[in-house]
Amino acid sequence: LQETLQQLSNANLRLAELNRRDGLTGLFNRQTLSEELERACARAERSRQPLAILMLDLDHFKQVNDRHGHLAGDACLRHAAQRIQQRLRSSDLLARFGGEEFVALLDNTDLAGALDLAEQLRDDLARQPCPYQDQSIALSLSIGLHAGIPDDTGCGERWLDLADRALYRAKAGGRNRVVGYEASALDGA
Ligand code: GH3
Ligand code: MG
Ligand code: MG
Repeated sequence: LQETLQQLSNANLRLAELNRRDGLTGLFNRQTLSEELERACARAERSRQPLAILMLDLDHFKQVNDRHGHLAGDACLRHAAQRIQQRLRSSDLLARFGGEEFVALLDNTDLAGALDLAEQLRDDLARQPCPYQDQSIALSLSIGLHAGIPDDTGCGERWLDLADRALYRAKAGGRNRVVGYEASALDGA
């Protein structure tokens, strides 16, 4: 009985971990991101250390599906997820936010550090096309980010929204680029 209980408990732990993940990429899912975002903000506010939020979106991804098929698109999503994850620190968190969108939370990272890392992520994916069957599928990323030390109004969903707005500017500016802002008193404006 002891052994069966142990096995059941292990299975439960595995299930709980699976529930935190996205099935296609193995990254954390959106629900987990929401929980971890609140924690990361609280940590940053308490320790007066900067936090950076990156919103990453694959460029013209609909065309990848249209040209190469949905299965190739899936392979490209896994490829991009892996390339991004590879360059992050173990203390960073990477989640699949939606279809072809990812969010990274970087502890102890100011605007300059976040811009630097985002540029590396952008450059890396642009140089490393996705291998699929006998093809090599070119990909690129637009990245919007928001960084700083949260004040007592917190950060959370509001900063995510600001990162999303920066992403919109990266798209409007021509894609395959990074746009970032520092948290300031103007955030609410
Ligand atoms: P933009 O540069 O403006 O981001 O253009 P886009 O084509 O990437 O953006 P849009 O939002 O028009 O299209 C997103 C595409 O991502 C369409 C959708 O079919 C594809 N997509 C979303 N989730 C998945 C998925 O799980 N697998 C595959 N293969 N494609 C997906
Ligand atoms: Mg998108
Ligand atoms: Mg896109």
